[in-house]
Formats: sequence, C-alpha cells, structure tokens
Amino acid sequence: MMPSIDSNAFVRGKHRRTMTGFTPTEIKNIDASIPVKCRTAWAKHATTGFTNEEELEDRFINHVETTLARSMYNCDDLAAYQALSNSLRDKLILQWNKTQQLYTIKETKRLYYLSLEFLMGRALDNAMINLNVKDLCKKSVDELGFNLEDIIEREPDAGLGNGGLGRLAACFIDSLSTGNYPGWGYGLRYNYGIFSQKIINGYQVEHPDYWLKFGNPWEIPRLEIRIPIDFYGTVQTTIDSKTGKSKKEWLGGERVLAIAYDFPIPGFKTNNVNNLRLWSSQPTTEFDFQKFNEGDYDDSVAQQQRAESITAVLYPNDNFYQGKELRLKQQYFWVAASLHDIVRRFLKTEHSWDKFPDLVAIQLNDTHPTLAVVELQRILVDNENLEWSYAWNIVTKTFGYTNHTVMQEALEKWPVDLIGNLLPRHLEIIYDINLFFLQKVEKLFPNDRDLLRRVSIVEESTPKNIRMANLAIVGSHRVNGVAELHSELIKTTIFKDFVKIYGAEKFTNVTNGVTFRRWLKQANPNLTNLISEKLGSDDFLTKPVLLKKLESFINDKEFLSKWDEVKFNNKVKLSKLIKSLTNIDVNPHNLFDIQVKRIHEYKRQQMNIFGIIWRYLQIKATPKEEREAKWLPKVCIIGGKAAPGYYAAKKIIKLVNSVGEVVNNDPEIGDLLKVVFIPDYNVSKAEIICPASDISEHISTAGTEASGTSNMKFVLNGGLIIGTVDGANVEITREIGEDNIFLFGNLSEDVEDLRYDHQMGRIEIPDALTLVFNELSKGTFGDYGEYQGLIDSTKVHGDYYLVSDDFESYLEAQSTIDKEFKDHENWVKKGVLSVANMGFFSSDRCIEEYAENIWNIEPIIEQV
Ligand SMILES: *Cc1c(COP(=O)(O)O)cnc(C)c1O
Repeated sequence: MMPSIDSNAFVRGKHRRTMTGFTPTEIKNIDASIPVKCRTAWAKHATTGFTNEEELEDRFINHVETTLARSMYNCDDLAAYQALSNSLRDKLILQWNKTQQLYTIKETKRLYYLSLEFLMGRALDNAMINLNVKDLCKKSVDELGFNLEDIIEREPDAGLGNGGLGRLAACFIDSLSTGNYPGWGYGLRYNYGIFSQKIINGYQVEHPDYWLKFGNPWEIPRLEIRIPIDFYGTVQTTIDSKTGKSKKEWLGGERVLAIAYDFPIPGFKTNNVNNLRLWSSQPTTEFDFQKFNEGDYDDSVAQQQRAESITAVLYPNDNFYQGKELRLKQQYFWVAASLHDIVRRFLKTEHSWDKFPDLVAIQLNDTHPTLAVVELQRILVDNENLEWSYAWNIVTKTFGYTNHTVMQEALEKWPVDLIGNLLPRHLEIIYDINLFFLQKVEKLFPNDRDLLRRVSIVEESTPKNIRMANLAIVGSHRVNGVAELHSELIKTTIFKDFVKIYGAEKFTNVTNGVTFRRWLKQANPNLTNLISEKLGSDDFLTKPVLLKKLESFINDKEFLSKWDEVKFNNKVKLSKLIKSLTNIDVNPHNLFDIQVKRIHEYKRQQMNIFGIIWRYLQIKATPKEEREAKWLPKVCIIGGKAAPGYYAAKKIIKLVNSVGEVVNNDPEIGDLLKVVFIPDYNVSKAEIICPASDISEHISTAGTEASGTSNMKFVLNGGLIIGTVDGANVEITREIGEDNIFLFGNLSEDVEDLRYDHQMGRIEIPDALTLVFNELSKGTFGDYGEYQGLIDSTKVHGDYYLVSDDFESYLEAQSTIDKEFKDHENWVKKGVLSVANMGFFSSDRCIEEYAENIWNIEPIIEQV
C-alpha cells in the first residue's frame, strides 16, 4: 500500500523526517504536490554554494562574524582556517544531500566499508582540490589578508588510525567518491587519535592527541541519530506457544548510546559526495535512580562515565593483537550501531529479506569488525524470526573479508569467557555457526579430526579462544589479500585448510593502492603541474594509465632538468622541516635515504640503523683524503611511531637518535653522513616527506609485509626503492621494471628453513654485522645495556627477522645505489620511468576491482 503523505505537513516543517527519510515513491509524490513558491525557494538555495571569489569572501566573512563570533580585528589564522573550512563545508553539504537523494531514488546497491581506523590526515586542502576551488580560495584569502599555506597548517590531522590499514581505508573512501560509487565508511570517532610523539633524550614520549580541541568544522553531528547499544546481561529462552519452537532473547544489562557524526567525502571532479559515519558513545539519559536512592551516587555516575570511555581513545597497536575488554566493547559498539543503521536504511525501501545481499555489501577491513557477521545473524534470527540457514545464507552473501597479515601475533583471538560475559547471545550464535560449519567439514572430510581442530572457530586451548579470522572466512563469500604475494601466502599457509574446504575461488587478491589526488597532486603540486604541462592535462589523476606517455619524454633534457629541479625543491622543503623539528642541518644536494613507517621489528628499521653504523665506521676507516671520492654523501632519515608497550621498537628509536647524536656531531664526517629521526610521523608529514626521497626503504623480512603502501607513495613521486621481494614491492617491480628498483635479500619461500636453522643454533653473523655489534658493545653510541636486547635477538635468540641472513645483500644493494646515483641523469630517468608506470597503484583501480569482483556495485551518475 502506498503511504499517504501530507505534503503540506512537510512544507510547514511539521514532518519529522528528512528528505532522504522518505521512500523514493514518497519523494516523487511530495515533489508533485509541493506549492511552486516553496519549491522555488528550496531550489534557489540548492545551488553549488559559491562559484566566484566575491561569493566566497562574503561567505568567509559571514562565518567569521556569525559562526565564530569574531571580527576583522581578531581573526587569526586559526579563525581563518575555521571560516574557510565552514565555507567549503557549506558547498560540500549541498552536494552531499543531492548525492544521498540520488542513491535513495535509484534504489541502488550500497557498499559499507567497516574499518576501525580511518587515517584521514587533513581535510581542507583535500576538499579544495577535489572541489576544484583551490586557486579561487587562494586568491580570496589573499585578498582578505591571509596566506593559504598558513591557514592549511592550522588544521590538526585526523589521526584516527595507526598506519597502513587506516590510511588504506582513507584512500578507499576518496576513490569511492571519485568513482561515483554508492559507498559509505563506518568507523569510530575517537576523542583521542593516535598519540603524538615527542623525542626526549632520544626516547619516544607519548602525548595524548586531543584533536577536537578547537572543534571540527568537517563533521556534521547527527545528534538526533541515537542508537541504543547493549552489553552484558543474560539470554532468555521462551517457547512459542503456537509452534512449540524455542526462541532466544538477549536481555542486555548495560546500555549506551551511539551518536552519529558524518564526514562528507568529496570526489575529485565530480559532484558526488559520500559519507563517512563515525560513532561516538554517550551515556543514556536514563540515570540509575535505584542506585542513586540507595546512596550509591558515585557508582551510578561511574557507570555513565564508562559509557563515554568506549570511543575515548584509539588503541595504538599496529599489526599486533591485545585482548583488552574495552577494545572488544569498541568493536561491538561500532558494529552494532553500523548494522542497525544499515538495516534501517534497507528497510526503508525493501521488506523482503532475501533482497538484502542485492542491496547491501559489507566489507570487513581486517577481522576487527567480524562481530558484524554474528550481529546480522542475531538480528535476522532473534529479531526477525528468520530460519537459521535462510538467515545464514543472507549473511554470507553480504560480507567480504580483507586479510591484512599472516603474522601470528597480529591475529585476533578473543577469550571465550570475555565474549560470553560481554555478549552472551553472540557467543551462543558463534558456537552454532561453528557447529554447522564443522558438520559440513565432517561431511566433506570424514574422520579428519585434526582438520576439524585446525579450522574450528573455537580454539580448544586453555583458556578457549574465538579465532576471529576463521569466523570472518566462514561468514563471508569472498576473502582477499592485499598484494599478490600476500594473497598467495594466505592460501598456502594460515588459510590453506579453508582452501581445501571452500575451494580456491573463495580467495582472491586486490593489490592495494593510494589516491593520486592526495599523494601526487596535494603532496607534490609542482610535479603534478610539470606532468600536466607535458601531457596537456591533469586527466592522469583519474586515468592514471595516461602517465605512461611520460616515457616518450625520456630524452627530453629540458624536461629532465625541470623534473630534477622539482625534486630538489621538495628536498629543500623537507630540509626546512627537519631543521625546525630537530635543529639538524641537512644538505639537499645529497642523497636522501628515507624509511618512514610504524616502527616494527618485521619492518627492520634495526637493519637500516645497523647499516648506517657500518657506513659510519667504513667512512672513519677510510683515509681522510680518500673519503670524499669514496663515499657518496648521504642523509639517512628515519621516522615512525612505536606502540607504547613495544619495548624493542622503542629501543630502535633510541638507537637511531643516539647514532645521530654521534654521527652528526663528528667533525670528521661533516656532510658525508647525517642521521635524522623525524618525530611524530603522520599523514601531513608524509605529504612533505614522500615527494623528497631519492631512495626509500621497504625492507621487511620476506613474507611479513602484506602490501605496504608508502612504497607506492614514494615511487609515485619519483623516488626509487631499496626493498625486499615482499608485499607490493613485487608488483611495483613488475610495473616499473627491475632496472628501476634495488631488490635484495632472501625470498619468502626460504624464510621457514632459515628460521628453522637458526632455531637449531645454526646462525652465522656476517663480518660486517659483527663489526657493528662490537662497536655498539664498546659504548660508542651510549650505554651498551640499552641495545643488548636488539643485538641478542639476532645473535642469540634465533634471529626471527633474518637480519643476519640479509645484511650483506642489503649493504651490496646500498653500494649499487651509491654508484648509480652518481650518474645523475640516468638516475632522474629512472624516476621518470617509474612514475610513468605507477598507474596500476591508484586506489581507484582497487575500488573498481572490489566493485566488480566482490561487491557487485556500480557507479551512480547524476543525469544532466
Ligand atoms: C602510507 C602511510 C603508512 C603506511 O606505510 P607503510 O610503509 O606502507 O607501512 C603509515 N603511516 C602513514 C602516516 C602513511 O601515510
């Protein structure tokens, strides 16, 4: 039956629902019956916000005077940032509204990307670029007495992520918008993002990142969207008097509210604006009066405060699982709120549950959101009374799971008791999912008890654990790795039993990518302009195969020299940043060798610093008069955060700083070697660092780095790579050619044997490494006790990361780099050739692959 609509009620504002709250049919009906005068008034407003400088300046001033309640005389850069951001936000929201209405009217299938992290960085510059108004903004604020670059600097990073995984999610939502896909992100609005890192006496010191301090013009609080989320409690079984069947009901014991905050995500050169919805936790307004009356006021307040702690802080671990109850609470809170929202939106237009997978695709970014699988099954079975297997079929068609690591210490395993206490009904459902799954396996492979034990969702250990990866695989229709090597590895190692059960077709690869808008145009405007001039347009930003044409200019001397000049200026810019952060002077004429990423033993920053120490010793051992001729002057730059509880990673940071202290102040060395640790590596620093490398290091132990994405950012900006045959380095090599990358080290297929050898006590420390270890033990770089653990993990504890095995080959690759860098023109050519062939690594390509092979969604384009 058609719902009857009182359009006048809408016109008079009596109708409580928003435009997108209506069904498509309702919207059409309303449109026809709204009085002309009213419709014109709305239509007049629904323009594009501002289109010229005068309009922008008006809007800017209006925001300064009304939104901020300031004046011309007390408008500082921060206020200017807020006013400009609000002006752009106005424009964004108008387009956002239109986009969302279009999706509703088209009744299209939507993709929801569930990620516990979105490492967004700054929004203002990106919004100006994607809305194609940066020049206009620059002129306007200039006329109003401001410098656009200074204004941009006032924005704090939205650091709602740790590293690669969170940044990937950020690149993906940019590409979803740019590709006109109906795709939303769902995450958490942490009050404290990733901590800010200070270096004090060479040690990392963590400071809380209260990024919302001055408010956030980029979020739209949806305070009316308040979703109740329950925890704890009990499960009640009732018998349906008619059918005689038993029915389960979860009676939660503690309730909090999930409040929605929306972040509009503009696409590049399109009017499409998608949404990133982040949830914030609040206490319910229902106060526990019983406790209050019993005189237990403190306790009832404490419970309310506990509610707010759920989204208070991002867990600062990268590639490491830590089984804290609050983290599990975060996961369920986020997943339950998101599913509630998704289901509500689905039910607005559709009432037949078997259509759910035709209208909804949900992607799990790692296992963090795996409870969504359980929650959807609970909604369908307990609340909607669907039959178990009918519901389960809907669930598995809906979800896709992206794996991000094969490392054991990063795989989530939640203790059964913890889940049972926090989410008693969910634990029952997990057990039932497991039971039906194991029955299926038993049928396929009778009497293979060991297989059942290995694939079981429940690990029969003490205490028992729920293996989230197993649950995610069983609950999804497709599982993907993030680079070819990694996707092969998951099939042959951690998930090989599941390949046997489901067949290899369930497992696929989508090699990661990065958005060229942020990582080329925004980070490196001068290179972007140079390329645009040469290619005749900046279309390569959305059609990256066009970059290939750069190859035809490889002998164009003028072009090469301009290219080189851009790189040099980017190095000057980084030098200034280094000076301001560390007071170290570096010479931009020298080779910049950069390794910036989270500090992790598997990423082997320890090998990098050992190599630097070796180089320092070799320089010192070279007769003074030969040094200049023999050693290429080099600036070694390392940066990244260590998880606060990661002892070894913190020691690596201390060692880098201690080595820097000695080397940079050694008068014999001068400019031949500098060692810099850049504090507080984050997205906005990465935007300055990535365009300024000659060489960047991606030197993880083979088989440990799932993909890496900073390798792509660096090469996209014309820097070369020293790297292992690991992660996406493999595809990068294939695309840009073996001559343009410096590969070294053992291959992943040999890692297991080497580790086994070491465990058996067969370990050989190469002479070069012995030299380094001996020097460290002499105390040249400070107290040896400080670093003994780092050395012993290689020397006596089995060298799990194979530093001893790869060290010589690493030094050889470094020495090849020294030689090749001297032939400067050839070096520049390699950079150009690399950029020309990096098109594959656009996150637009990733999204197209996911859309086609996993999500089954299509672009929705406004008809004009
Ligand atoms: C791209 C990026 C990463 C990922 O770096 P990897 O070297 O691929 O681990 C981490 N942090 C920030 C700030 C980034 O921009």
